Amino acid sequence: MAAATERAAAALQTSQRVAVLLGAGISVGSGIPDFRSPGGMYDTLRPDLLTATPAQRALMARDPTAVVSWTIFRENQLPYLELRRPFILGINEGRWKPSLAHYFLQELQDRGKLHRCYSQNIDGLELMTGLDRSRVVTCHGSLGAISCEFCGKPADRDWFTSALRSSIRDIYGTDDSAPKTSTPISCPACGRPGLKPSTVLYGRSLPGDFFEAMEADFPSTIDLVIVVGTSLTVSPANQIPCLAARDTPRIVVNMEPVGEDLGLDFASKRDIFLGGACDDSFANLLRELGWSSTFASKPAGERRQQHQQHQQHQQNAEQEVAIEALLVKIKDQARSKELGLGARRVLLSDMLDSLRHLEHEIDADQWLYEEQPLLN
Ligand SMILES: [Zn+2]
Repeated sequence: MAAATERAAAALQTSQRVAVLLGAGISVGSGIPDFRSPGGMYDTLRPDLLTATPAQRALMARDPTAVVSWTIFRENQLPYLELRRPFILGINEGRWKPSLAHYFLQELQDRGKLHRCYSQNIDGLELMTGLDRSRVVTCHGSLGAISCEFCGKPADRDWFTSALRSSIRDIYGTDDSAPKTSTPISCPACGRPGLKPSTVLYGRSLPGDFFEAMEADFPSTIDLVIVVGTSLTVSPANQIPCLAARDTPRIVVNMEPVGEDLGLDFASKRDIFLGGACDDSFANLLRELGWSSTFASKPAGERRQQHQQHQQHQQNAEQEVAIEALLVKIKDQARSKELGLGARRVLLSDMLDSLRHLEHEIDADQWLYEEQPLLN
């Protein structure tokens, strides 16, 4: 069988009505952590930091997703707001930008191939690319709009954001201006503390347009399904690949293969797996399809390049700080009389190794960004 990227490109060339299913993995390249990965939100959740009763803490310790569930939110809104505070503020400030993978969707749209984008993400990054809103179904709602879980009434986003900043404490310890204790935010319409971004809590029903779109698209309208950066564990969105007609090809772009329990079979001719970071897989696809130059010539591609350069500068600055700190330590250690000469030599040699490692990292990054631009 031909290489996976070649097969995926061939499927894309012949397709005319593509459905894409997005998960948190597509936004990792934009700097938003994947909830379900090691180091992601659920993995690192610390119930002891949240304002909650012992019973609520025990529930969150057993099941970290309880922090974004209706079960807890209807009793106590603070754990949700404390956990999401920096994410909500960051989205409102436009801190995260779409990545190459997001812009690939726009490329599909520009070429008349994108029929529907089902997004399980609440970050709204796919909507910042110029995707036609009517093609996008946000299965789990969006952080971009604010409404009350109790009365359903919308609230002003800027007003809510400033209330969040001044009423909810910062459990991450990165915002000195945050209050030391959290106070509920009352809904101006009903007076109850139900305001939050209009995302779907676990235990609440999904937006109606999600089911309408699925009914209209499957099985016969869609001729290619692309699954991007999702573990395919959350129902009912994870059923989308299974709804396609039996001979419809399915491409999975993800760090590791997923969906085998749902019937995807990457040894078959039908299903294709593109492993690794989403941005890399889509960059490879652009090259294979011969779309790279038009992609890079568009404003979206330019924005992406600027974004990369910005990230690169930030990374360089962080590495420089790390090197400075290490040099100070090395000097101190060299002068220190606390340890014997042998022990100092071993310590110094370890530190010099770390220093060389940091220098290699910088060199590798320079090479990656300057010599091998993702878009060429
Ligand atoms: Zn209300």
